[in-house]
Amino acid sequence: MMMFSRDLSILNVMEPIVSNLFEDNYLKTNGLKCDCEKCQIDIVLLTLNHVPPHYTSSQAGEAYIKALYQEPQLQSDILRELTKAVQVIQERPNH
Ligand SMILES: [Zn+2]
Repeated sequence: MMMFSRDLSILNVMEPIVSNLFEDNYLKTNGLKCDCEKCQIDIVLLTLNHVPPHYTSSQAGEAYIKALYQEPQLQSDILRELTKAVQVIQERPNH
């Protein structure tokens, strides 16, 4: 992450949003064949590489990220990519 100062940095809000959606929809529901750390990271990375980044200043804060997180269209776009990534990684885990 690029740092401009102690208080200001660049954040791709898709990182926390994809992680949270993954947790809520796959980890908490035990929806994975393998939920080792390697598979978890690979699924999140693959998803992030297929979802356009959405950058904000770290100052934007948690309220802004939560508001984005709750957008139904954004959630369904990410969930579609997340589901594809889960299928790919579960069929061919990198271990
Ligand atoms: Zn695994």
